Amino acid sequence: MNFLLEKASARPKALSHPELVTLLTSTDAQALFSAAYAVKAREVGRVVSFRGLVECGNVCEKNCYYCGIRKGNDKVHRYRMSAEEILREAKWSYEAGYGSLVLQSGELTGEAHTAFIEDILRRIHAFAGEAFGITLSLGEQTEETYRRWREAGAHRYLLRIETSNPELYARLHPADHSWERRRECLKALRRCGYQVGSGVMAGLPGQTMDDLAADIEFFAAEDLDMIGMGPYIPHADTPLGRDVKGTPEDAAQRLELGLRMIAVTRLYLHDVNIAAATALQALDPEGREKGLLAGANVVMPNVTDVAYRADYQLYAGKPCLNENSTLCRGCLERRIAAIGETINWKRRGDSPHWGKR
Ligand code: SAH
Ligand code: SF4
Repeated sequence: MNFLLEKASARPKALSHPELVTLLTSTDAQALFSAAYAVKAREVGRVVSFRGLVECGNVCEKNCYYCGIRKGNDKVHRYRMSAEEILREAKWSYEAGYGSLVLQSGELTGEAHTAFIEDILRRIHAFAGEAFGITLSLGEQTEETYRRWREAGAHRYLLRIETSNPELYARLHPADHSWERRRECLKALRRCGYQVGSGVMAGLPGQTMDDLAADIEFFAAEDLDMIGMGPYIPHADTPLGRDVKGTPEDAAQRLELGLRMIAVTRLYLHDVNIAAATALQALDPEGREKGLLAGANVVMPNVTDVAYRADYQLYAGKPCLNENSTLCRGCLERRIAAIGETINWKRRGDSPHWGKR
């Protein structure tokens, strides 16, 4: 185990597939996290970058079997924020010193939506300029739409592949959702000049350690700049989560698997940005800090108006439903200081990997 950790720390992509599995399943999780943290400290510094997360709307055209806001869930109260509301959250994030913003929503397509986002991007860019990072997480779109949004001022795009195993993907989605199309979108995003992010859920039903090791190899093969992944958390109003009982033991296991994925990804890829997903915090109040100590370097504080937060529940147990953005900012500052990291205020925080491109 120590030999593997040393080999992985010395240079990126040094591990074979079986060696990735060995680390993912190793008995000494703490040694794994410490080694990954040392690589993160060396490659990106003991610094955390913030992206203010705006949950722009929960209307979605898709029906992923695991997601709480899937089209088929008729218990959800649907909302779409106005341009003015989104701009208000963007301005708040900018003035709070968050170096970047993420606009995320259910998947919507069509000219009206493309033009709506385009207009918002131009308006954010007008007051914040190039120094403020704008990430989109708006699902699968045509290359033309991706290009228009890039030209209007977006820098990064986050589109999780969810799993690198097409057969597992097929079991988690209706037949008209295509793994190949999703991967093609990642290629289109690269062609349009985005910093490209992807990721997976860890702990999906039927997912093996081999799948997770292959996910990490997929990140390398796609040459990603950023990784956003987190534990899968069942949602009771979905086909996949209907019969699952969330016990404390189950939460602890999901958390640990999520942390192991962060650590092994850091040991394999060294210089990418890795987010400590909010889903970690849903499983443990200190989940995000644990993610940072296992090798992550990005946190996405929620800046959505509290009036909407409860309606945007992808998974069970979403945290901070009633804490406004100012409270969240103060809470995070204290938590990050407590683990001895500093915050990358007012910086975009692009990954060193992107910088080397
Ligand atoms: N509609 C866009 C963005 C919003 S969904 C898209 O799908 O790309 C953002 C992410 O939430 C998804 O990529 C998925 O990985 C995650 N997610 C959905 N349901 C989840 C669950 N039950 N547990 C954990 N993560 C989930
Ligand atoms: Fe829609 Fe994204 Fe949820 Fe799938 S994961 S149902 S695309 S919001």
